[in-house]
Amino acid sequence: MQSRWNDADAANFAGPLAERAYTSRLLGQDHSLVLHGGGNTSVKIRERDIFGDEQDILYIKGSGWDLETIEPAGFAPVRLDHVLRLARLNSLSDTEMVQHLRAALKNPSAPTPSVETILHALLPYRFVDHTHADALLAITNTPDGARRVREIYGDSVVVVPYIMPGFDLARAVAQQFPAESTPRTTGLVLMNHGFFSFGETAREAYERMIDLVARAEDFLSKSATYALGTPRPAQFNRATVASLRHSISQVAGFPLIASTHDGQKALAFAQRTNIRDISQQGPATPDHVIRTKRVPMLGTDVLTFKSEYERYFAEHAAGKQLTMLDPAPRVILDPHLGLLTLGRTAQEAAIAFDVYNHTIDIVLLATALGGYKALSPAEIFAVEYWDLEQAKLRRGGAPPDFAGEITLITGAASGIGKATADALLRRGAAVVGFDINPRVHEVFGNRADFLGLEVDLRSADAVEAGLDACVKQFGGLDMLVLNAGIFPASRRVEALQLDEWRRVMDINLDANLVLMSAAYPLLKCAPRYGRVVVIGSKNVPAPGPGAAAYSAAKAALNQLARVAALEWGADGIRVNVVHPNAVFDTGIWTDEVLSSRAASYGLSVEEYRKNNVLKVEVTSRDVAEMVAEMCGPTFSRTTAAQVPVDGGNERVI
Ligand code: ZN
Repeated sequence: MQSRWNDADAANFAGPLAERAYTSRLLGQDHSLVLHGGGNTSVKIRERDIFGDEQDILYIKGSGWDLETIEPAGFAPVRLDHVLRLARLNSLSDTEMVQHLRAALKNPSAPTPSVETILHALLPYRFVDHTHADALLAITNTPDGARRVREIYGDSVVVVPYIMPGFDLARAVAQQFPAESTPRTTGLVLMNHGFFSFGETAREAYERMIDLVARAEDFLSKSATYALGTPRPAQFNRATVASLRHSISQVAGFPLIASTHDGQKALAFAQRTNIRDISQQGPATPDHVIRTKRVPMLGTDVLTFKSEYERYFAEHAAGKQLTMLDPAPRVILDPHLGLLTLGRTAQEAAIAFDVYNHTIDIVLLATALGGYKALSPAEIFAVEYWDLEQAKLRRGGAPPDFAGEITLITGAASGIGKATADALLRRGAAVVGFDINPRVHEVFGNRADFLGLEVDLRSADAVEAGLDACVKQFGGLDMLVLNAGIFPASRRVEALQLDEWRRVMDINLDANLVLMSAAYPLLKCAPRYGRVVVIGSKNVPAPGPGAAAYSAAKAALNQLARVAALEWGADGIRVNVVHPNAVFDTGIWTDEVLSSRAASYGLSVEEYRKNNVLKVEVTSRDVAEMVAEMCGPTFSRTTAAQVPVDGGNERVI
């Protein structure tokens, strides 16, 4: 562990609060110290209030901020004297504590102060840093952890036994710290939880933290060595993963995203012979509460886990009014697949991976030290069913419509496909976009819930690989939107060459058959039943001159969709069609195509744009919203519908 302090960078942060933000970010950049909003930091500053009176303000990380990116506005300013009076109370529930901390804010619109605020207030130093360093957790999560900590640090730290974060922990520190600290004390070790370090300057507190962590790492490098070895190759199978996701979603009561990780480390860990013992003990720190299950493939084990979990909840929650969390595991270890992480959103599944990836290191190091020993199940239960988390559960509104569901859209890099991807992302779905355009990777920037893949739909192998990638990333497929297509230049029947006809059929028709057929086993496993939406065309009910190949392909696709609706209805899969017309903000409508189509109707381009009964323009977004609605509950009793999105067309009406 090296200090990341840099004088040139630090010079850009003037004043104690800005310095506080700078070293907080240095801590946040290292995920072996803190993960995803974990850890916290503070600084005590003497200021004048509006009346000109001097007061001490404790600036502490507010909830919702991540140390990695925190700014001065992310620190909640709390009146220090008020917090110190709270610390002298005999008891305070966590809910009351949060209320009183909010009441002590100098700025009522600031974020809510951390639950560790009282602890920061009690430590008599200006700058206080708190992390959940992996190296310390590996040492403290062993049967002999406290002795080892004393051996490594002597009196340079005060060691506090595990107490759940909150008022009681702060009280314990208030008693222990003054009694046990010496002039050589630079930090505090909270067993099974993390470090506190402190100093008179931001740099001093930060570098003391780095020093404490470095000493733990030195100890581990001498005492705990392990080799993961080379794993047997993964046996990824998308049908297996989709069916596993189906079972877990049943247990949860709602669809979940499941990401498969089969890198060397995950696979080797999942294949360890003692994995059943070492993986079932619980999290490395209360910040990492996450339900782990080792499943040698498939659902029955997951369902058994549900009854175990419910029994466990009933035992521990006896007499308390607690809302049971869903019993689905969030981490699954399988010797063939590797590590699966689950979440209500792709972001949650990604966080579960990050947390568990660090847990693997901690478990292996602790095992090498002589045995991994996590907190007791009762302590983990107390964190999982914490007052504040329960209150959040009661407050929380309904999740977005498509949370936990996965959509595949062809032709997602532009036009209707891109607009549909956007509409579904906004409704909470994870989206996989296929497109022949390699820029499909970047159309939505870098986000956990979108996977853009360059796929030539004419290649069955490319489609297979694309579906594998979809299931590996998100766990299955719930909604399929068949959008990709080409619109060739206007050509009369007698001038239409067979190779052009075939080119149009290849993409607008045949490719859809290949994809539908390959996607069917996945759609069958969709927890809320599969949905297919086909982007048809006004040309199906009302073809136009000069578009024989396009119209014939779309009409055949329409008929394919109707037959699929008949055949797949027994599996609950709904297949519906939209018939857009004159959507000019799409890739196929080049100026050339637009003017030639307008000319074939004897209209100007402007007349052609709004040439419908309602005299309105139809945009990609209008079509996309209809597609999204067809995937949602409004259309839950509808299959094989053909809905025009065309502003009203006299020939169709
Ligand atoms: Zn903590």
